[in-house]
Amino acid sequence: MSKADARKAAQRIKTLRAELLRHDQLYFVEHNPEISDERYDELMHELRALEAAHPELVTSDSPSQRVGELPIEGFDHVRHAVPMLSIDNTYSPDELREFDQRVRKLLEGEPYTYIVDPKIDGVAVSLRYEDSQLVLGATRGDGVTGDDITQNLRAIRSVPLRLSGEDWPAVLEVRGEVYWPRTGFDRTNEQRVASGEEPFKNPRNATAGTLKQLNARVVAPRGLAFQCHGFGQIAPPLTDVEAYAELIARIRDWGIPTSPHERRCNDIDAVIAFVDEWNAQRSTLDYDTDGLVVKIDRLDQRETLGRTSKAPRWCIAYKYAAEQATSRVLSVDFQVGKLGTITPVANLEPVELAGTTVRRASLHNFDQVRRLDLHLGDVVRVEKAGEIIPQVVGVDANARDKKAKPIKPPTACPVCAGEVVQDENGVYLRCINPACDAQIIERLRFFCARGQMDIEGAGIKLVEALVRAGLVHSYADIYRLHEKRDELLELERMGEKSVDNLLAGIAASKERPLSRVVAALNIRHVGSNTAELLSEHFGDIDALCATDIETLQAVDGVGPEVANSLHTWLHSETGQATIADLRDAGVNLTQPRDESAAAASQALAGKTFVVTGTLAKYKRSEIEALIKQLGGKTTGSVSKKTDYLVAGESPGGKLEKARKLGVTVLTEADFDALIGSN
Ligand SMILES: [Zn+2]
Repeated sequence: MSKADARKAAQRIKTLRAELLRHDQLYFVEHNPEISDERYDELMHELRALEAAHPELVTSDSPSQRVGELPIEGFDHVRHAVPMLSIDNTYSPDELREFDQRVRKLLEGEPYTYIVDPKIDGVAVSLRYEDSQLVLGATRGDGVTGDDITQNLRAIRSVPLRLSGEDWPAVLEVRGEVYWPRTGFDRTNEQRVASGEEPFKNPRNATAGTLKQLNARVVAPRGLAFQCHGFGQIAPPLTDVEAYAELIARIRDWGIPTSPHERRCNDIDAVIAFVDEWNAQRSTLDYDTDGLVVKIDRLDQRETLGRTSKAPRWCIAYKYAAEQATSRVLSVDFQVGKLGTITPVANLEPVELAGTTVRRASLHNFDQVRRLDLHLGDVVRVEKAGEIIPQVVGVDANARDKKAKPIKPPTACPVCAGEVVQDENGVYLRCINPACDAQIIERLRFFCARGQMDIEGAGIKLVEALVRAGLVHSYADIYRLHEKRDELLELERMGEKSVDNLLAGIAASKERPLSRVVAALNIRHVGSNTAELLSEHFGDIDALCATDIETLQAVDGVGPEVANSLHTWLHSETGQATIADLRDAGVNLTQPRDESAAAASQALAGKTFVVTGTLAKYKRSEIEALIKQLGGKTTGSVSKKTDYLVAGESPGGKLEKARKLGVTVLTEADFDALIGSN
């Protein structure tokens, strides 16, 4: 490569990094993005490609380098330069007034104002920047010493790897909250359920769990976010800054997200008014807040007020009470999920809570039961916080009958009496009997459901009846039901007509494409998206079975976890038997080519396309689908094998490369002409 080329690449890398940094700030700090997510991904893609070609130009603060290559062994302890104190809580306006009286007394008549901020229900962390570079990210720990979780915090997109602007101090420590926005949390849970994993119960605990991961690759896709609400060490001190509000404005200018809801209150009455106002608003945010933090604005007054051994005297949290009710535990059910997970659920004396009658409450897992020291008949406090299902949060041990029996985890599966084991994290018990009725029912229900084999008439009630009557044990048994018409007619609520409908529904489901079958098989980590990617890539089940892990992983969108899980299942005794059984039963195990595509002209057959820049008429995914439908294929980078580059607005480096290699460059209009559309 010539020196001129290398210089050009270095220049472009620099530009791209600055652009990406700017867009991160527009997105996370100013909440005012200028470009689409697709365009952002494109810029990132271009940067990654350039850095791959010029590894000597990679620096640790490049936005492409958020996620380290290797999982770490464990977390080092780090001592905070300035302790991370906790904050005292109050729960009533009266307590807020008491706090204000203490402040007034200690400030001896000086005027003062408060800054009030919503309190995000997340995990407190500290970020340390030296010469503008993020060098350390740590948990609070005990306030004096925390864990070094830099690797995981780097994987959070709203944490800048480098400060922007110029007037930052040599050392800047900011404190804030890592949290999981509701939308991202819900999306992750949908994916987990689709791939047969337990959904997370609430965003806060799941955030804490995510930050404890040793592999930052797990952290990055979850979409956690960071918001700054304080500071630690600043050196040299900023002598021209007198108040927190000024400092936080600068921190924002340096590219660190801060609260968009911060409010200045001139007295405690204004604070209390904001408490009321905010209670109505907080449910509209994309994250959970459980209260407000009230802070003295002037930094010299903070010094004067000082701290107790535990908490600062210049600051207090007001916490909204979660809605709670008291009830009594009548019994505890052990529910068995489709992968065998056993979850304890308390049956309660009915009680009104947040507008609904609550009869059951989650106990989450047996760790929780142990922590609560729960006994049958206990008087418990039930709470509805961020969760949909109420949970038991406390037990009144004094009200307990002396003869009450503690709740013990089952030693055998409550449904099949089979062996139970602790799962990897030691929190859940799992029934490992693959023939367990409870699991079979759950698996069959999923198999028959709409997103999978979509068998009309085969809902949970029928599946339960079929399993309990001994008519169905495996997926393939469903396809032999037409031989058992008489037995079907004996089931409750099954007349001639409903049996006919069911059998017709079953017959129709035999023709579903392979992708539906793979998604229906309850293979851990293999959800419908993955099933589709793999089925389209390999075409039929035999090709899929003949593939090794490396080749599976090479399919775009398939990670090592998925590849491993699928490969293990396909080659297990259960997997092999299941496939053979379904084949015998006449279930389609191939992925048909899209018929509309086959009928359409194959105008682009055998041609390789690269698409770059922003197009006016198509989204990136749309044009790629169209190319594929017309027999062509798309790749991510331009090479000698590329036939056409479709270049939209701001095409970037790919256009240059295409020209250099003599690849035909098409505008969007050229492309439309090529495919005969307009
Ligand atoms: Zn079982």
